[in-house]
Amino acid sequence: MSESGRTPATSGSPDLVSMARFLGSTRAEGPGERTAVWVQGCAIRCTGCFNPHLWSVRGGEPVAPAELVTRVLDAGTDGLTLLGGEPFDQAAALSRVASGVRAAGRSVMTFTGYRTDELHRAAEAGRDDVAALLGETDLLVAGPFLADRIDRVRPWVGSTNQEFVLLTDRMADSLAGLASTPDRLEIVVGASGRVAVNGWAAPDVLDELLADLGTRLPTGSSASACRPHADGSE
Ligand code: SF4
Repeated sequence: MSESGRTPATSGSPDLVSMARFLGSTRAEGPGERTAVWVQGCAIRCTGCFNPHLWSVRGGEPVAPAELVTRVLDAGTDGLTLLGGEPFDQAAALSRVASGVRAAGRSVMTFTGYRTDELHRAAEAGRDDVAALLGETDLLVAGPFLADRIDRVRPWVGSTNQEFVLLTDRMADSLAGLASTPDRLEIVVGASGRVAVNGWAAPDVLDELLADLGTRLPTGSSASACRPHADGSE
């Protein structure tokens, strides 16, 4: 598929989300306190992606959209952030999740490695699933990760080509202070010694932090990309 004309894959079931990770509360994946859901599977496969373990469509936890809505609302946060993997590769199921979350008055922020023009072109060509997820997203963060264009200024994004696109007014205030909003990195060391990381830091900074903890992330589980994510242990 050419760089100029990628179309979201349809790898997922419309009735099940293939979920890689659920994080009930975080302040590192968008404005305010949010619930984050990483999905399994990404057809884009950017060079330099830190999350190749999320490329395969195999390995995710299948979750019904209604169940995931309940889990998100029970978390009691400001809203939901969808990250990848690639959310638009399973847009049908995720649009149902996003719809339920928004119907309860919460916001939805969606990260994607597709460009906005690719998504709108797919929607206009009849991809109702893509149109539905766009229609249930308040803030879209769009574009592939480009390893030679690391963004060290804006929060939440991995590279300078990625753009914030407000699709509704619900999260408009969150972009007002973007220039002064720092990136955050959350590191949780569990009782078993398992290190779970989310948020964004440049890879060298992340490695330095983890070295202080006496560990390094396994290959393929470092800070990322279309949206930073890392978890793992050694
Ligand atoms: S950076 Fe994001 S869009 Fe690109 S390959 Fe990795 S998970 Fe997919």
